[in-house]
Amino acid sequence: MNIQVLGAHNCESQGSKLVSLLIDDALVIDAGGLTSSLSFPAQQKLKAILLTHQHYDHIRDIPAIAMNFFLRETTINIYSILPVYNALAAHLLSGELYPNFLERPEGNPTIKFNIIEPYKTEHIEGYSILATEVNHPIPTVGYQVTSPDGKIVFYTGDTGPGLAGCWEYVSPQLLIIEVTVPDRYEEFARKTGHLTPSLLKQELISFRELKGYLPRVVVVHMDPRFEKEIEAEITVVAEALDNSINLAYEGMQLHL
Ligand SMILES: [Zn+2]
Ligand SMILES: [Zn+2]
Repeated sequence: MNIQVLGAHNCESQGSKLVSLLIDDALVIDAGGLTSSLSFPAQQKLKAILLTHQHYDHIRDIPAIAMNFFLRETTINIYSILPVYNALAAHLLSGELYPNFLERPEGNPTIKFNIIEPYKTEHIEGYSILATEVNHPIPTVGYQVTSPDGKIVFYTGDTGPGLAGCWEYVSPQLLIIEVTVPDRYEEFARKTGHLTPSLLKQELISFRELKGYLPRVVVVHMDPRFEKEIEAEITVVAEALDNSINLAYEGMQLHL
């Protein structure tokens, strides 16, 4: 399994893109930094897009990629939970802001939207996909992706503390997890459903207690304003847990 980090942050600028992960050139999870990261031929190779939740930084490029598929008379599969479908259908894809790619072209719409349920394994393009609920102010799922050759990654999406229930369902070799702000913003993180390095540490301790091991950890969704501070605090956590924890960056390649 080859994972490319297309976007690693929660805010966009010339040097930072919104969260998007590309798996084996075929699957995408979250669509914040999708179209600007991939050539048109690379976009056409995509088989499916999985969305963790409907916050704008995770779904923004859906209309843009749909237009590219529409103009090439091809279709794209999108998978997510019902609330995400409802939000996209009511807003970004309602036809008011841009064409309604859920219905156009008539008879063979560009977007095939597949509603998934948490804790029910889906088989998508040879991969086993398991969605698990995480702790965020709106319905949000993380995705465990198992490749045909048995490699396993789990990406949390946006989440606050309290992942113990989630850990029971997943056994990844690689954990991609969010850390949005440094420790001094813990109150903000708890209120808005995000993690700090110290909150991540607690989640990893609960993972190790339950599973008896720790996977390699890669952190995404950093606020670029605080990246240096987050990195310093993550280094301390990695040393305390004696485990590999790295901050993701745009263009980062991960191999399993
Ligand atoms: Zn969010
Ligand atoms: Zn976000």
